[in-house]
Amino acid sequence: MRVEIVEIIRQVLRDVSSAGLEEPRIEESDWDDDPRMLSAMIYSTRDSTGQGVSVKADLPQAEQLVSVADQVQEWVIEENGPTNSNWPCCPWHPNNHPLAAQLIDDQGFWACPVLNTPVALIGELSVKD
Ligand SMILES: [Zn+2]
Repeated sequence: MRVEIVEIIRQVLRDVSSAGLEEPRIEESDWDDDPRMLSAMIYSTRDSTGQGVSVKADLPQAEQLVSVADQVQEWVIEENGPTNSNWPCCPWHPNNHPLAAQLIDDQGFWACPVLNTPVALIGELSVKD
């Protein structure tokens, strides 16, 4: 079960690396005692600050992806500080807010939270255009 969340995290990390940002180290970890939750830790390679990532095991895959993307985004923003605090950058409002992970038509998208317009599938930000 734990391998599954690692796969989901890796999918989100494709967007992290394509943005030129440093990817975290993923560690399988059953830190969440709830057997209905899948959990893992992501660590900065610069220091040992870790953040837990968890998702309900029985959610549809697209919903898991949106939830994990949201948590990874939190880590990236925390990790990179104010300079990269708007990852992933909204193409319409690059100075105002990052894109938000949203479920649209049963698929996980990065979307502008103001226009509610999808930009790219999660994991495929670099593939757009
Ligand atoms: Zn926007």
